[in-house]
Amino acid sequence: MSNELLLVESLIKRSQQKRRTSPLNYKERLFVLTKTKLTYFDGKAEKKFRRGSIELSRIRCVEIVKNGGGLIPCQNKYPFQVVYDTNTLYVFAPSNDSRSLWVQSLKLEIQDNPSVLAKFHPQFWQDGAWLCCRQAEKLAPGCEEYNPFGDISRKPLPPIPGDEQKNGQRRPPLPPIPLGPAAVDDDDESDDLVVVALYDFPGGEPHDLTLVKGDEYTVLDKSDVNWYRARNKYGEEGYIPSNYITEKKPGSLMQFVWYSKQVNRNKAEELLKKEDKEGAFIVRDSSITGAYTVSLYAKSASGEEGAVIKHYHIKETQDMPKKFYLAEKHVFSSIPELIEYHKHNAAGLVARLRYPAGKEESGPSTAGFSYEKWEINPSELTFIRELGNGQFGQVRLGSWRGQHQVAIKVLREGAMYEEDFIEEAKVMMKLFHPKLVQLYGVCSQQKPIYIVTEFLEHGCLSHFLWQRRGSFSLGSLLSICLDVGEGMEHLESHGFIHRDLAARNCLVHNSLVVKVSDFGMTRYVLDDQYTSSSGSRFPVKWSPPEVFNFSRYSSKSDVWSFGVLMWEVFSEGRMPFEQNQNHEVVALVNNGHRLYRPKLTPPTIYDVMSICWHERPDERPSFTQLCQIISDALEGDAPSPSDQSGASATLPYPR
Ligand code: ADP
Ligand code: MG
Repeated sequence: MSNELLLVESLIKRSQQKRRTSPLNYKERLFVLTKTKLTYFDGKAEKKFRRGSIELSRIRCVEIVKNGGGLIPCQNKYPFQVVYDTNTLYVFAPSNDSRSLWVQSLKLEIQDNPSVLAKFHPQFWQDGAWLCCRQAEKLAPGCEEYNPFGDISRKPLPPIPGDEQKNGQRRPPLPPIPLGPAAVDDDDESDDLVVVALYDFPGGEPHDLTLVKGDEYTVLDKSDVNWYRARNKYGEEGYIPSNYITEKKPGSLMQFVWYSKQVNRNKAEELLKKEDKEGAFIVRDSSITGAYTVSLYAKSASGEEGAVIKHYHIKETQDMPKKFYLAEKHVFSSIPELIEYHKHNAAGLVARLRYPAGKEESGPSTAGFSYEKWEINPSELTFIRELGNGQFGQVRLGSWRGQHQVAIKVLREGAMYEEDFIEEAKVMMKLFHPKLVQLYGVCSQQKPIYIVTEFLEHGCLSHFLWQRRGSFSLGSLLSICLDVGEGMEHLESHGFIHRDLAARNCLVHNSLVVKVSDFGMTRYVLDDQYTSSSGSRFPVKWSPPEVFNFSRYSSKSDVWSFGVLMWEVFSEGRMPFEQNQNHEVVALVNNGHRLYRPKLTPPTIYDVMSICWHERPDERPSFTQLCQIISDALEGDAPSPSDQSGASATLPYPR
């Protein structure tokens, strides 16, 4: 009988999260071993939920884990491992006897498996390395011979009272209990996370799963932050981009046409202007986490010339449960009710909410085109036109598989340490954030090598600022700074240093979102004039003293550059230290001089730039702090109907 119970015990299981940065957790699970499966449940025997199940035929090694004296952060101190497919499950038993029993029983069942390992890792995989051999590849071959028959703890097994079965290792069979349906191995950490697709995803590779906007999916594996493994309603499984879905929650705004999640202030203004309709509106996430803003367009408003765009916070009451309002007299128990009301009543707003504007149809960029795909087939690229010339060679607009617009850098021979870059590209592909220019992949099997990235219509930020100088509102300048700050915050949180942050290395999206580009690339430049701090192309004007004096790069040196970038933004694309040569700037900055306050900069914002230029790196703020300060300043710029005194965001472009 296949579900005859061999062993049942409550043990502790370590999470199998494969990301280096996610904290490990330890959960108590009821483990059940039968002749065919090792299954673990949440809860007690009477009321339990299956959390995962491994078919014994897929197990390749079961052995105790030598812990090398390391502290085990749960009360069970006797770990063993179950290696199956390419994963390792760590389980902690309460005693040595219990562990031996599990290990021996499992070994007995898997002895004849064809995929049993010849070598294994006797210690833990932890923080991105095997503790036994220090190899940093999860799939690195084992470092010790595996004996599928013996017990490496070499302690005799305790006699089991009343056990007369073969080998003396089995408990008498317990009465069979139903083990739930499917025989699938769905070792999920996520308690059957059900999500809804925000966008269509065609799924270009056989291991991808196609997403249909609005459909529901079950997430099976979140170990890669960018590409989740999921199952659709037909039971098909594959990889999906994690930013194309949202958790299915009652009360979520995702289902409403007027809600756009990934729209910032500038993008909202652009969408509304494009629509050019009285009462066009968008509900979007506010720059304050967890809050929402209504951006509203009116062709004329009393006391103001021409069209206006207002950004109203949706305010919350202190009640439990909380209520929502735009105008204090009109309070609602949900945001949809509030929107419904203001569709019919302006009640203090410049217009009533007439037309939901611009729900984005095509999805945002993904981390590469598919899961673990970073080599792009050059025959799938078509060139469209030249975009510009850079340090590494020509940059062209192209399309991939005739569907996606992409930017293609064609590497000039001798411009780059190509092999080092290609190694690093695998890491950079995983850096994924809406405010970072996405690396899609490389064509590295040919000369010249291509680097394929996300395409941003409006090109580089410094040029964009200069071209449209005179047309920016304070809010749009701050919003640009916030975008860059958010991209940088993501790099900072991953310990990734940009080394060349400047407006020329940021790009502008058609929706006026600004994204950070070229991060870390200076490390691969083969050009002394650019890489040596005395070289003519070295970005001295963006560098703090510790960089041009001692080449000491850090996230805090990026913060200095960010201050200079803010200066570029507020001077609408001017060159910092316009009148000075590089060597003069070195002398000036070493002597404590700093950039002046550009005309458009409010003193509070100049203070923000100035703290970025603190001589001591540790006195400078972090990007997280900077984003907080800037988003507070931005919100101060958005009046609510009851506060008409604040500056309203007038159209950045004359009409
Ligand atoms: P490099 O970093 O190699 O010096 P750049 O990235 O500065 O080269 O590219 C040169 C020019 O090409 C930029 O100023 C910009 O106008 C254009 N460009 C580069 N990448 C893109 C992109 N992803 N989308 C749109 N335009 C781009
Ligand atoms: Mg560049």
